[in-house]
Amino acid sequence: MRIVLLGPPGAGKGTQAVRLAETYAVPHVSTGDILRFVVAWETEIGKRAKSYMDEGELVPDELVLELLRIRLAQEDAASGFVMDGFPRTLPQAEALDKILAEIGQRIDGVIYLEVPDELIVLRLSARASCPTCGRTYNLLASPPKEDMRCDRDASPLFQRDDDRPEVIQQRLNVFKRQTHPLIA
Ligand code: ADP
Repeated sequence: MRIVLLGPPGAGKGTQAVRLAETYAVPHVSTGDILRFVVAWETEIGKRAKSYMDEGELVPDELVLELLRIRLAQEDAASGFVMDGFPRTLPQAEALDKILAEIGQRIDGVIYLEVPDELIVLRLSARASCPTCGRTYNLLASPPKEDMRCDRDASPLFQRDDDRPEVIQQRLNVFKRQTHPLIA
């Protein structure tokens, strides 16, 4: 099963991707997670990616594509994937078609999650994540039992650098300009 989730930041792609990946027993492939992992290692590629992410801009296609190729070549992705955050531009979508054609595969379905802007701003401003298990919380709607600690493993929760109001607006603009055309 090969599924792609499309939608603005904060639509819930990550949350639904985890559930779908469990249902179909395939990996959840999130380019955002891969990029944050690379950034955490403070390599040259990581520093380059961070400069775009902090501004709410897209990381250049060639860099994301290189990381995606490496991820899809891993054994667990042979049986399929639930992709979240990729493709985000027309060239990325065309590149994905090409990568899949090379291995004789195709996408089974694309799910578009549509959420009004006002709700996205509310959700992202209230989002906190666990660095250990990756679980996300909405600090207003579904806060953890203990203040800013994960219910599962008690790790201190963090808020993403790009979940600041000015960056959220920029991410929404970028979605409308560069990713929304993919729906057609
Ligand atoms: P969200 O969907 O909540 O914005 P992501 O975790 O998917 O968050 O992405 C965070 C940031 O990582 C994006 O704002 C962008 O800078 C970068 N990024 C993630 N996926 C891609 C991609 N496919 N192409 C370019 N940049 C990406």
